[in-house]
Amino acid sequence: MADEPLVHEMLRDAEQAEEPGNMKIGTPIGNANGIQMTATELRSAGYVYVYNVRTGDRSTVNRNMLEQQLQKTFEDGTYAFTTRKPEGLEPSKGKIKCMLHADDPNREKYNSMGLPVCRKANIVASHDLRIHMEKRHRREWATINGDEIQKEKQRELERQDNLAEAIRLLAEREAPRSSGNNQNRGKGNG
Ligand SMILES: [Zn+2]
Repeated sequence: MADEPLVHEMLRDAEQAEEPGNMKIGTPIGNANGIQMTATELRSAGYVYVYNVRTGDRSTVNRNMLEQQLQKTFEDGTYAFTTRKPEGLEPSKGKIKCMLHADDPNREKYNSMGLPVCRKANIVASHDLRIHMEKRHRREWATINGDEIQKEKQRELERQDNLAEAIRLLAEREAPRSSGNNQNRGKGNG
């Protein structure tokens, strides 16, 4: 297979990460850490994995940013990231599903909006989810966000209405002071 040397060279330097929106076409050629990779994905060479040397947590970095990422240090000056999976450190397994996952509570709505399904279900933190959405589903994320912004505006308007209403009621209750001692006779119970 003509791809073999190229593949091995790349795997030696850094593990290849899925590229945003990459369709899994082509024949599977390798399986590193449970990630099925195809020749197509490897050849496109866009993203690689880096590991936090202390936690073992894995993140995805654009190749253009890789050098910069590897320059980052902890407070004590030691390098924070490596492209080699740290031995003896199990990365914390995420359980957060992509917002475009088939199990998402908003799936029906997303279907009606024509948004695709994503199978990613091992996102560690909500912060990572946002990054995943921004990187892998930029357009869909903007669509979802636009919808959320719209809803938030609506909620804000309703909050303001409620507040205005509450202030009005309070003002009304405060106003009729002239009616003398107003004892609470609501529950005359003998
Ligand atoms: Zn996704």
